[in-house]
Amino acid sequence: MIARRGPVPAAGALDPRAYASLCARWGVPGLEAEVSIRVSARLTRSLGRADIVRGRVTLHPALLDRPDGLLDEVIVHELAHLAAARLNGSRRIRPHGQEWRELMTSAGYTPRATTRVPGWPASPPSPRRRSSWRHTCTACRAWRVAGRPMRRWRCARCLDAGHGGELTIERIR
Ligand SMILES: [Zn+2]
Ligand SMILES: [Zn+2]
Repeated sequence: MIARRGPVPAAGALDPRAYASLCARWGVPGLEAEVSIRVSARLTRSLGRADIVRGRVTLHPALLDRPDGLLDEVIVHELAHLAAARLNGSRRIRPHGQEWRELMTSAGYTPRATTRVPGWPASPPSPRRRSSWRHTCTACRAWRVAGRPMRRWRCARCLDAGHGGELTIERIR
């Protein structure tokens, strides 16, 4: 792999040469070539995982659909764990401690331990996407979603108030 000189582009790099250059800059030249990257839907608690012993980075499949720089950030985040371990040998370091943070900063990222996106669950959408049905109260507009049309549902609030509580049902996905 050809190392490139100059500043490392941070977000959206995803260029093998950028990772080679980054690892060289971190003082672990060639690390990127030893690391295997795989994608696993079994990752549920985070977007990425670094296995220091196996030299492996696992990525959440949902990352591959993200158009922004998050995929790059997660790869750099996990690579930095491997680099920090390599640089510090048998010395014990905290996973997101000073050593790791410095590597992230030099890669152009603000170090953040979690790369979870608000409102974006870490678990992937199920491959067989079920449709959803929205049940909206014709009177108060309150609504509830179910995986199938629930024709017998009524709006509890409106029933209590002495109304019929009828709901309109629409498919939303
Ligand atoms: Zn981490
Ligand atoms: Zn209602």
